[in-house]
Amino acid sequence: MQQDCIFCKIAANEIPVKAVYEDEDIIAFPDINPAAPVHLLVIPKQHITNILEATPADAAMLGRLMAAIPKIAAIAGLTEDGFRTIINTKDNGGQTVYHLHLHILGGRFMTWPPG
Ligand code: 5GP
Repeated sequence: MQQDCIFCKIAANEIPVKAVYEDEDIIAFPDINPAAPVHLLVIPKQHITNILEATPADAAMLGRLMAAIPKIAAIAGLTEDGFRTIINTKDNGGQTVYHLHLHILGGRFMTWPPG
């Protein structure tokens, strides 16, 4: 756990969230500032700053993160119409919280390219 990391505090249950999915390694919960009717964040409980900091030792955990997406999408009712999955990395990518997370956005049509 990294001090002063808001997502580490969420992962450790120090900040309560309405988890839509949780297992040993992962927790998914609603974004506090939703950009779509459904906007979930999926985080590894282990602190990794962003995808650039992931090492080969993290491959299994990253695989579990990806494998959780269809389960979370099903729980959120997004499998029929689809959804968007995003990882923002550093400033140009729009990363504001420096703990690796996936965004799952759905419930409306997503335009392309993103802004
Ligand atoms: P980023 O911009 O780093 O890709 O995404 C960070 C996301 O975390 C933003 O969409 C922001 O609204 C969300 N967020 C920031 N702080 C909190 C929080 O304390 N709780 C929740 N649920 N979401 C947060």
